[in-house]
Amino acid sequence: MTTTRFAPSPTGYIHVGNLRTALMNFLIARKAGGTFILRIDDTDPERSKEEYVDAIKEDLDWLGLHWDRVERQSERLDRYAEAADRLREMGRFYEAWETPTELDLKRKKQLNMGRPPVYDRAALALSEDEKAALRAERGEGVWRFKLDHARIDWADGILGDISIDAASVSDPVLIRADGQILYTLASVVDDTEMGVTDVVRGSDHVTNTATQIQIIEALGGTPPAFAHHSLLTGPQGEALSKRLGVLALRDLREAGVKPMALLSLMARLGSSDPVELRTDMAELIEGFDISRFGSAPTKLDPEDLYPLTARYLQTLPLSEVAAEVSAAGVPDDLAEPFWAVMKENITTLKDLGPWWEMLRDGASPEVADEDRDFIAFAFGLLPEPPYDDTTWGAWTTSVKEQSGRKGKGLFMPLRKALTGQARGPEMAALMPLMQKVNKTF
Ligand code: GLU
Repeated sequence: MTTTRFAPSPTGYIHVGNLRTALMNFLIARKAGGTFILRIDDTDPERSKEEYVDAIKEDLDWLGLHWDRVERQSERLDRYAEAADRLREMGRFYEAWETPTELDLKRKKQLNMGRPPVYDRAALALSEDEKAALRAERGEGVWRFKLDHARIDWADGILGDISIDAASVSDPVLIRADGQILYTLASVVDDTEMGVTDVVRGSDHVTNTATQIQIIEALGGTPPAFAHHSLLTGPQGEALSKRLGVLALRDLREAGVKPMALLSLMARLGSSDPVELRTDMAELIEGFDISRFGSAPTKLDPEDLYPLTARYLQTLPLSEVAAEVSAAGVPDDLAEPFWAVMKENITTLKDLGPWWEMLRDGASPEVADEDRDFIAFAFGLLPEPPYDDTTWGAWTTSVKEQSGRKGKGLFMPLRKALTGQARGPEMAALMPLMQKVNKTF
């Protein structure tokens, strides 16, 4: 059965880059009728925080990316220790004591000689006495997985056929000197034991994948199908990390972006299919195809989320936004006509409040100098509210007849005088909602 996982480290809030990974794994599982696991990669006790675990769940819930179960790496440490023992017994695991400074020096030397900066396996050549001496001097070492120096091949779901020479990759450290299990080992143990069939993650993980395939095979497992999506950049191709502050999911939610707008964009961006607004999850699942994605960096312009949000809001009946309409202060008996008019004219639901204030209290009229006499005259012909849907037509007709103005020269100054703005909903539909008009300017 198809099983995927989204495996965030709870060291911060999730952002659009993580969302892409989460969404693709979610859609693959749902499309296949399989299982979607939320795996919390919390083997680093210093950086992992419970508040981020909660925040990740809250953000995924908001988006409707519901998981079938949660797994936590911190609860599975004995499984990783057992796998480490097996690798040791097989002779695929060795202890090494180089300090970060020593490793750095080795890398610099290799680079100076025009060689790739790959760990030289000096620790493999240590005698038992030398190891004992190093252990006495430096304490526990790190544990590295001994790669088999062959080519590692896989058919990547996005990148196509990949072939990596294991000799060009350093033997990965799987356990730190302080005993902390590192993600590379924990992840392969989990993927194997949890029956994960498909792994989609960022292309920054390609080298990890190569080493993980060998570790999985060493442990007797079958590697899942891997797909690596390209990294997201800003609209000009700049690194997204600079903009993470504004692109955390909770910030987008706070800014009024709607989940289906965000998901519709993320499910298509970087693929050869056009971005289309999907209004429900079933459609999104149906229309998803990982093979349509390309390897080129994917440009994301957060501004694109707003027109999609606006279009999504247009599809909603009042029942879906009743709480927000009421929170904007709109009385229940006006909620239906207010929403009917507003849904075509807002970008996010945050726009509702200011519109209702204007309707309730009256706008400050915007009147150009050359229109002052005209507006004073026109206001003289306008009765006090309440208005109905004939008010605008009747009023503008009599203003037109008596002033001789017509077209834009007639309607635009009247709109600005009544709403304080050059743009907005149809005046005939808006006027019945006006509770007050300020005629002084
Ligand atoms: N915790 C890892 C990360 O956030 C998971 C990577 C993976 O999907 O294997 O990068």
